[in-house]
Amino acid sequence: MSSEGRAPGLLLVLSAPSGAGKTTLAHRLRAEHPDAVFSVSATTRAPRGAEREGVDYHFVSRARFDELVAQGAFAEWADVHGHRYGTLRATVDEALRAGRIALFDIDVQGGEQLRRAYPRDAVTVLVLPPTLDELARRLRGRSTDSDEVIARRLAAARAEVARGLASYEYVVVNEELEVALAALQAIAAHERARRAGRTDAAAAAIAARCLRAVADLRAWAP
Ligand code: ADP
Ligand code: 5GP
Repeated sequence: MSSEGRAPGLLLVLSAPSGAGKTTLAHRLRAEHPDAVFSVSATTRAPRGAEREGVDYHFVSRARFDELVAQGAFAEWADVHGHRYGTLRATVDEALRAGRIALFDIDVQGGEQLRRAYPRDAVTVLVLPPTLDELARRLRGRSTDSDEVIARRLAAARAEVARGLASYEYVVVNEELEVALAALQAIAAHERARRAGRTDAAAAAIAARCLRAVADLRAWAP
C-alpha cells in the first residue's frame, strides 16, 4: 500500500507538571488539526467528575490491566500515584496507520518509554509554565485544593520537570498561550516534514528554538 501524498503519522508526546497548561494546549491543537487524535490510555483509577469511558480513559480493573500487561498490549505503562496507566499499542498503531498526529498526555517516564518503543515516530515535548511561582498561581486559580495538596503537587512538578529537562527533545514554555500553541504546531509540522523527507523551513526555524538544548530555562534552574 502506498502512503504517497499523505502526511506521515506522528506520536506527539506532551508531558507537563500539572497546571502548566497542557490540557488547554492539547485541545487547541486538536481543534486546529482535524487529523489529530487524543490517545486514550487505560487506567485502573476510577472515573472523576464528567470523565467518560473511552473518551478520557479506558477504565479497567487491576486484574484486566495485569492481563493486558501479560499480553504485551501496552506500548508503555506506569504506576502513577498508586494507580496504573498505560498506552495501548493498538491505539498507537492505528494512529500511525491512518497518518494522524496522535497526542499523548502521559508522564515523563512514559514519554521516555514510548520514544524507545517508537524511536522513528515519537517526539517528546515538555510543556512548562514560565516559572514555578506562576505554576503555583495557576494551580490555586484552577482548583479548590488545599495549600497542602498544592505544595505536594509543586514538589512533584519539580521532580517531573527535572527528569524531562534531562531527556525530552523539546521544551515549550507556556507563557502566552498563542505563542506556545504556534511553537507546538511548528514542532509537529517540522517533525512530520522531516519524516516525509521534506523541509518546512519556517516550522524548522521555530522548532529549533524549542530544542531542549537551546531553550532559555533560567527560571527553572534551581
Ligand atoms: P494542565 O493540563 O497542564 O494541568 P490546564 O490546561 O488545566 O493545565 O491549565 C491550568 C490553568 O492554567 C487553567 O486554568 C488554564 O486556563 C490556565 N492557563 C493555561 N495556559 C495559560 C497561559 N498561557 N497563561 C495563563 N493561564 C493559562
Ligand atoms: P490523571 O489521573 O490526573 O488523569 O493522570 C495522572 C498522571 O498520569 C498524569 O501525569 C498523566 O500524564 C499520567 N498518565 C495518563 N495516562 C498515562 C499513560 O498511559 N501512561 C503514562 N506513563 N502516564 C499516563
